[in-house]
Order: sequence, then C-alpha cells, then structure tokens
Amino acid sequence: MTSKDGYSWTEAQGLRAGVPSIGVIEPPTNVKSADTVYDVIVVGAGYCGLTAARDASLAGLKVLLLEARDRIGGRSWSSNIEGYPYEMGGTWVFWGQANVWREIARYGMQDELEISYDFSRGINKYLLSSPQGVQTFTHEEEDALMQSALAKLVNVDGCLGRTVVPFPHSGVLTPEARKYDHMSVADRLAEIKNDLTPNERLCAEAFVLLCSGGTLETTSFYEFLHWWALSGYSYEGCIDYLVKYKFRGGQSSFAIRFFREALASGNLTYAFNSPVANIQHGGDSVQITTRAGKTYKAAKMICAIPLNVLNDVAFDPPLAPGRKAAATTGHVNQCVKVHAEISDRDLRSFTGISYPHNGLLYGFGDGTTPAGNTHVVAFGGQHNHFHPEENLEHTKAAFQGFAPMSIQRLVFHNWSRDEFAKGAWFFPAPGLLATHLKDMRARERNIVFACSDWALGWRSFIDGAIEEGTRAAITVRGDFAGRAKL
Ligand code: FAD
Repeated sequence: MTSKDGYSWTEAQGLRAGVPSIGVIEPPTNVKSADTVYDVIVVGAGYCGLTAARDASLAGLKVLLLEARDRIGGRSWSSNIEGYPYEMGGTWVFWGQANVWREIARYGMQDELEISYDFSRGINKYLLSSPQGVQTFTHEEEDALMQSALAKLVNVDGCLGRTVVPFPHSGVLTPEARKYDHMSVADRLAEIKNDLTPNERLCAEAFVLLCSGGTLETTSFYEFLHWWALSGYSYEGCIDYLVKYKFRGGQSSFAIRFFREALASGNLTYAFNSPVANIQHGGDSVQITTRAGKTYKAAKMICAIPLNVLNDVAFDPPLAPGRKAAATTGHVNQCVKVHAEISDRDLRSFTGISYPHNGLLYGFGDGTTPAGNTHVVAFGGQHNHFHPEENLEHTKAAFQGFAPMSIQRLVFHNWSRDEFAKGAWFFPAPGLLATHLKDMRARERNIVFACSDWALGWRSFIDGAIEEGTRAAITVRGDFAGRAKL
C-alpha cells in the first residue's frame, strides 16, 4: 500500500509524493453503523493512540479509533522501498526504555533489532566539517570529544547534572529544574564560553541541535539535561538510548502489532482518512465531528493529538486556558530528516557533523540496501532550515556537506509541513515545561489528553507515547470500573 505521506526521489522517477508502507490500513474503515455509541473514542493512531485503543479494547470497552492519515504510526513510520525500510520519523529504541521494551517483549520482537552503525570499513572516520575545513578523527576520538564537550555543558553541579535531574521520570520540576527550564542552551553556552575548545563548541552545539531541532536560543536547557539524565548522564548512554538500535523491518512492523492485537479483541472499530474537526464535550458524553461531517458519539474520549496541532481542532467548551496557551506556544522542533541511498560503499562507516554552515548538521552511514548501496541518514532543524522537496539540488548539496557522495535516491517526510504534526518530536522552548507541563497533562471532563509530547519519562520518544497511551487507557478503565463486563 502507498501512503499519501512522504517523498522519494530518483533520477529516473523524479520527485514523487507518497511512499509505500506496511502501516497503511486497508480497508480504511470498518465502521458499520453511524448510530453506535462507543465507550471511548481514541483520536490519533500514533503509538500513544494505538496503545490506548489496544488496552481499552482488550479491557472489554467498545472503542472507536479515528485517524486523520491513511496509516498508523503518526510520527513513527517506515516506508518499504525495494525491500528496504527507510524510517521517516521515530526510529531508534533501547531496552533501557521500559515501556518500549515491555511492548517489544510482548510481541516477541527482541531479535528483530539491528545496530545502525557499522564501524568496520572504508572511510571509518568521524568527519567534522566547519567553514574552516574538514577535520578527520577516529570514532574513539569522536566519543572522547563529544563526552568532554557535553560534560562541560551539563556540569552545572559538579555531578554532571545528577542533582538537577535526580529522578528523570518524575513529573515534579524542582525549583532548580525550573530555573534551568527558563534558561536556553545559548544562555548556558555563554556561561561556559571560555571553557570549551573550538571543536568542543562545534560538537556540543551540533549535538544539542540534533536533539532539539530548534535553535540554541529556543532550546530549553532543562529539557536537554532531562534527556542527558534519561541516558544515564553520559554521551555513551546518549548513543545507546537515542540513535543505535532499530527494527530490521522498520517501525511500522512494530506499530502494526498493536493495531492487529486491538482488532483481534473484536472491540475495535476504526476509521482512517478521518481528520477530526470539532469536539463537543459539555454533558456526560462526547460528540466528535470529522472534517467530512461524520459524527460519532462516546461516553469518553482519549485525545492523542500532538501539541502543535491541538489548536486546529475546535473544542466546545473551549480547551482550558493553560492547555490552549501551551498549544499556542507549541514546541520548537522542526527537524529535517532525510535519507540518501548512495553508491559509495566506502561511506558505510562514516559519522559526521557539518556545522554551522550546512543545512544538514549530523549524518552517518545507517545501513546497506539490498542493492548493496550505502544508506545515509542526516538531520537538520530550525537552524538553516529548509524544505527538502522544494529544491532537490540544495538537499543533495547538504549531503555533500559531509563528504562527496553519489546520490541515487532520496527519501523523506517533511514534518514541518505536515498538517497533523507541524513539527517533529516534542522539544520545548525555555519556560514551556515549567509553566505548562501540568496543564498539558490535565484531564478535561470526559476527555483524557495523552501524547508523547507531555509524557513524564521519555517525553518526545516512542517510549513516552506508549507511557501516555497506557496511562490514558488505565484512566478510562477506571471510569468504567464496576461495570459488569469489566
Ligand atoms: P503521533 O505519532 O504524532 O500521533 C498522533 C496522531 O494523531 C497522528 O497519527 C496524527 O495523524 C493524528 N492526528 C493529528 N490531528 C488529528 C486530527 N485532527 N484528527 C485525527 N487525527 C489526528 N522517538 C524515538 O523513540 N526514537 C527515535 O529515533 C525518534 N526519532 C524521531 C525522528 C523524527 C523525524 C520524528 C518526527 C520523531 C522521532 N521520534 C523518535 C519521536 C516519536 O516519533 C514520537 O514522539 C512519537 O511517535 C509520538 O507518538 P504520539 O502517538 O504521541 O504522537
């Protein structure tokens, strides 16, 4: 099946909108009657909505899952092109992420992971490109440089940030944490400007921007400390948790298990291609209307719509002021993630930073395609932001910013122009979490709001989406407690 989402380019086919994916659901709906009143309607079929819909339907609730797109997975999905999965959004998972690992074990997928890096051949180097030229390091030197740069950045307490974020899964921001949330990474870099070598500065800045997809000024220093704490307070941990282990069959091979299990319960009704336009929730039920004018009713709703697009749906009564303000501020991540299939086999083992001049700032060899070509994945963001489909020559030139390469194919999803995401993974500007984390998580009458964007632990990760979907289903089950079928 081909999704409407994503782009691919080859010399022979030119730029094409839409890429094949096993995450596309066919038939797009199994709704039988427009009159059914559901126990719960889940809006959004990303990992959060999928988890919530599965857990609620397995608990015996009558569930309707509504999704704007033609596919499951939301911001985590893979295309399947010539036998190879390109990850369009969320990719890497790790056994240290408790929610994700519980699900991987549930579906017996422990042996379906592979390691992105292969430091065995060819240009087996770290290439650090800046306007001053290209410097070449071994991967061991890369690790040492990154560790020393990031250690200086996070070491606000002489314990590498441990006293600021001692419990990274806690929902309570201590006064110190709040202080750092009001500070940007640019502010922190100004404090340590005399401590960093020029290379450490390049590495620290590029790594932070890789994490936030924003600019140094719009990146909350606290949230970076939070990622660092979750990753075990080390650069080695960051690599393990953030960018190393991925599914051989792609993310959609994982997401589809959630959907199939929910469907097998016999309690799941679903409708894809169904963007929700408005939600009325005044009385003791919820009425949801799609852009096409279809109306659905339920006792409860789980709203798994991301922060940056929440204000595009009309709520009656309106969203609580704190939530509305958080959605108006939004998160800052405008990550540009692009894949290139290149014929240069020697580049399988490179990693590189190309900063601050280039459109793509971090890239590396991420796999070998069935044709024997190298797959390179690269990331940009709000810094030097561009839309990859707008000017393919610019996009290809951004890859050459790492090393000369012969590009055979490009694959990407433009998350900035995606009307159901308006950005990539959640990353807050200074002040958003200190002011609104509680608001984003609060319930409103019969609606439970759940999304990776306001998870407590791996907020902005697949793990956080599953954490939130689990919480939402438990909350709604609690509402029905005492009912005979539960
Ligand atoms: P989403 O996946 O966004 O799901 C929300 C769903 O709601 C979507 O399907 C959307 O279409 C739907 N929706 C929106 N509006 C409406 C509407 N009006 N009506 C109906 N439906 C609507 N995480 C990791 O763990 N590891 C990674 O390596 C990683 N890399 C990433 C790289 C990129 C480029 C991106 C974009 C994300 C990455 N993430 C990664 C983050 C991860 O993908 C997300 O945090 C997670 O998938 C979010 O899940 P969610 O269910 O909370 O939200």
